[in-house]
Amino acid sequence: MASQLSTDSKMISPGDEVLIGAREVAATITAADAERVAWDLIVVGAGIAGSTTAILAAREGLRVLLIEAKRFPREKVCGGCLNPRAIDYLKRLGVADELQRQGSVVLRQLHVQFGRAPHCWPIPNLWSVRRSTVDSILVQKAIESGVQFLPETVGLLPLPSRDLTSRDSYSAKPSATDDARVGNGFRSQLEQGSVEVQIRPAVGGQRSSSRRLVAKVAVVASGLNRSPLGGTLQWSSSVAQGSRIGVQCMLHESELSEDSFLTQSPMFLDQQSLHMLVAPNGYVGLCKTDGGYYDIAAALDPEAVHGKNSIPATIDSIIDYCGYRPDSVWHTKPWMTTPHLTRASDPVAVPRVFLVGDSIGYIEPFTGEGMSWALASGFAVVPLIAEAIRCNSYEDSSSKWNQWAIQQRRFSQSVCRWVAKQARMPRRAQWVLRVCDWFPPIRNWIVRKATQ
Ligand SMILES: Cc1cc2nc3c(=O)[nH]c(=O)nc-3n(C[C@H](O)[C@H](O)[C@H](O)COP(=O)(O)OP(=O)(O)OC[C@H]3O[C@@H](n4cnc5c(N)ncnc54)[C@H](O)[C@@H]3O)c2cc1C
Repeated sequence: MASQLSTDSKMISPGDEVLIGAREVAATITAADAERVAWDLIVVGAGIAGSTTAILAAREGLRVLLIEAKRFPREKVCGGCLNPRAIDYLKRLGVADELQRQGSVVLRQLHVQFGRAPHCWPIPNLWSVRRSTVDSILVQKAIESGVQFLPETVGLLPLPSRDLTSRDSYSAKPSATDDARVGNGFRSQLEQGSVEVQIRPAVGGQRSSSRRLVAKVAVVASGLNRSPLGGTLQWSSSVAQGSRIGVQCMLHESELSEDSFLTQSPMFLDQQSLHMLVAPNGYVGLCKTDGGYYDIAAALDPEAVHGKNSIPATIDSIIDYCGYRPDSVWHTKPWMTTPHLTRASDPVAVPRVFLVGDSIGYIEPFTGEGMSWALASGFAVVPLIAEAIRCNSYEDSSSKWNQWAIQQRRFSQSVCRWVAKQARMPRRAQWVLRVCDWFPPIRNWIVRKATQ
């Protein structure tokens, strides 16, 4: 297994300090060597969706390259709670045992609070795990499965314009007008039966050091980061009005101040609870995770952050709204942030290019389903890709993938959307929480739906 201990603490960006001494997942190929290979599949982004896709594609016998902008391991904004569906997928990938060995924490209770009244509900077991842990384990599994891994490398796809791709069926032989819009580069790639992925080093990468890789299919698994799609031609993404931003900070238990509510309040002493503290301007999720850390992740109104002038002060205001005394320690910690959360890409596939995971679209993380969607998309896309490559026919699989995404948005994400909406309305949210207390079957149904 290509891994070694990383001791480099020179370049610590927000969130990385929890990684000092963590296992590094080293590159298995150089950019120069990657340029010489005719890949079946290039996956851009080694988060949950990208690694899942890479592992399963390698198991199908495809020659796969996994490109990642960051050095691994890396932290990222996430509550780190794996729901039963996600755990099931991880078992199928063969990494669940390793996650347990690494100390994932089992959460059995949800403590949710909008204002001062706490509501505590049993939940199907969730596993709490740092993203640095789970993502590295997945990349290791990908390498073991035969995937080549190229970290600290940015991938970019020159893609066709939306005008062209939004038609019901996209023709591999575009018309003369399409030609003008798409550009000869992409057109000739399709004709040659390949897609091009430009890569450059993530740090200090000059234009001159960029290289052109070629694959039969490319998968964009870059999360909320749309940089791989920011090529010469446009790929549309709509951001919902009033969308929140995500933030996260990791605190080690040894860093908590003596009078921290996390160690003093009886409610928080139960280390098997997921705590959701909700206020009109956002919500904070807190839980114990592996390695003795607390994961503090939140979705905040950007206006509230501007108003308070800092992320920790906005977190304080939510904790205070729920009746607890904020902990000063997170004012000294680095916070990671995301762009606006609620968004959708259109389309999510064109022949030879597929989007997976958060790249497809994302809703606020109140119900914490993002990782299971990312896993689900990896499991669903690989049979389509394998079939397309086998038959050398790409149009059908791309239109099937667009349909899959529409269905996901319509059904699977509807509960999440509904819950996130209630969480913005204090009176309604309190009323919903009370109804859930009075009628456990309704509560259980919502919990079950949200964790499916
Ligand atoms: C506040 C918050 C809390 C959350 N809590 C939970 C939770 O508790 N449970 C849960 O299941 N989900 C949660 N989520 C959602 C979850 O984090 C995402 O849904 C999940 O990470 C999506 O996985 P992904 O693989 O699509 O993208 P990501 O995990 O974001 O991975 C994308 C990868 O692509 C890389 N990349 C980006 N651009 C490039 C490029 N140009 N070239 C190469 N690499 C690139 C990035 O470095 C990154 O490693 C939460 C989200 C937020 C914001």
